Amino acid sequence: MSENPTIAFLGLGHMGGPMAVNLVNAGYSVAGYDVVPAALEAAQAHGVPVAGSPAEAVAGAGVVLTMFPSGQHVLDAYRGVNGTPGLLTDAAPGTMFLDCSTINVDEAREAATLAIAAGHRSVDAPVSGGVVGAEAGTLTFMVGGEADDFEAVRPLLEVMGKRVVHCGGHGGGQAAKICNNLILGVSMIAVSEAFVLGEKLGLTHQALFDVASAASGQCWALTTNCPVPGPVPSSPANRDYQPGFAGALMAKDLKLALNALQSTGVAARLGPLASEIYDTFAAEGGAGRDFSGIITDIRDKSDSDRSQA
Ligand code: NAD
Repeated sequence: MSENPTIAFLGLGHMGGPMAVNLVNAGYSVAGYDVVPAALEAAQAHGVPVAGSPAEAVAGAGVVLTMFPSGQHVLDAYRGVNGTPGLLTDAAPGTMFLDCSTINVDEAREAATLAIAAGHRSVDAPVSGGVVGAEAGTLTFMVGGEADDFEAVRPLLEVMGKRVVHCGGHGGGQAAKICNNLILGVSMIAVSEAFVLGEKLGLTHQALFDVASAASGQCWALTTNCPVPGPVPSSPANRDYQPGFAGALMAKDLKLALNALQSTGVAARLGPLASEIYDTFAAEGGAGRDFSGIITDIRDKSDSDRSQA
């Protein structure tokens, strides 16, 4: 891989679009592609050169970067569907396959196996930081793959992010991502239950915040993404739970964590419950709301007649 490779960037959605723009602005030669014409046109309007087909995007590319909704999308695109050649066939031997989508650990390992069997290199590098981080170039990348492949992709990840962490072999990036979001999902539910309990017991939000944020209950769900309005003015609770980090994405990530908990046989109880809780939240109108909106669910489903205030 050359020091300044051409990048085929496939998947120009909410995240991929601005990430591709940042690569272009940093001087990389990019060929963007998306199956949805509107996404392609939006990226083009922001200065991303686009291709007419996946094969055209991949021709001459040193890196094939994918930013897709799911692992099935990644595997289908790599292998090709309905007899059409996939990206692994389209790309020249030795191409770096860099998948930044959030997918199952097993799927990431399968994607790496397929890429390597086809004579390519492979790295998984899911992100955190959301659309705001994608636009600002401040994402965190969690990277799985061989050490020399990590070093090869690090410069371009540093264009799109401010933190790039090598988490181990293939699938290691996905593993770190879902473990982190397992903590996040469970802790947001715990913080929300505590605030609703505090309301029932006559505590003000500010009093509970002032104590817990400086005590052993301190966590990101409380101090940065506080689920009640007031104590943290920048939290989504102050803007009617506009995301932020949408409930649908939390439900997705917890499902990936659940799959990994089950396939590894971990005796987890809170993870599966958190996955169920966020599935319900997403299905009952929370999909497009910030995941901290779970507190309104807990409050609404609580017994309105009983309190000790
Ligand atoms: P998105 O749905 O907005 O974008 C995905 C894009 O991929 C779509 O435009 C879709 O048309 C395109 N696509 C699907 N299959 C394709 C193919 N074969 N070829 C070309 N394009 C194809 O999703 P997003 O919000 O950008 O998220 C992308 C990934 O990043 C997901 O895996 C998500 O879990 C992860 N993620 C998202 C966020 C966030 O805040 N949105 C944060 C962290 C991680």
